[in-house]
Amino acid sequence: MNTRNLNQNFTRMKKILLINVAALLAILPFTQAKSQETVKRNGYTLTFLNNYAELDPKLKTRLIETFFVVYPKLAKEYNPKTLKEVVFSVDTAYKGVAATAAGKVSFSSVWMKTHPEDIDVVTHEVMHIVQDYGSSVGPWWVTEGIADYARYQFGVDNSGAGWSLPELKPSHHYDNSYRITARFFAYIDQKVKKGAIRAVDKSLRDHTYTADIWKALTGKTIDELWADYQKNPAI
Ligand SMILES: [Zn+2]
Repeated sequence: MNTRNLNQNFTRMKKILLINVAALLAILPFTQAKSQETVKRNGYTLTFLNNYAELDPKLKTRLIETFFVVYPKLAKEYNPKTLKEVVFSVDTAYKGVAATAAGKVSFSSVWMKTHPEDIDVVTHEVMHIVQDYGSSVGPWWVTEGIADYARYQFGVDNSGAGWSLPELKPSHHYDNSYRITARFFAYIDQKVKKGAIRAVDKSLRDHTYTADIWKALTGKTIDELWADYQKNPAI
């Protein structure tokens, strides 16, 4: 290929690129009604990003209020050194329910629209910020079990969302995660060893967690604890 052909190709590519950028700029204002608001209270800062134009302002207020109620409590109970600055993002592009990474919680606009009462999604997700396990040395079901246990402890309106810890069933196992594990953790804290779940959470943050921690804290392995729980699951 000679230089002239190359130049022609470049010119053509530039034209295509310019047309694409122009098209994108024309569409952008309609697809992304982005807004940003920063709220500071009692040493904590919440930045609220939203690209969902139809987000109910009342729901937005409730998400913010819930953060400022639960986050300081979770910090006090589990990790006073947790991040002071958090970002919430209601994102039309996000397809899950909610997810948290590096101090930022992404909420699905669809979930928010169809489940506006499920406000304690906030509590579960910001607990993941408080946990701050990094690359965890423990199993994921412990991480998610603790996040739902924290929601059970500190949620602002679990009953309004129809959210509760499910009664133990024969098909359950401690590594089912989420609420099933959370109920087991509530049992351990209430009936076996107060503060055990806090200690497990701390060990995950310190990266000192091993499966032996259950025996060190309670005198029993996780399987022995589960067997006891199955015999008498009341909490
Ligand atoms: Zn989670």
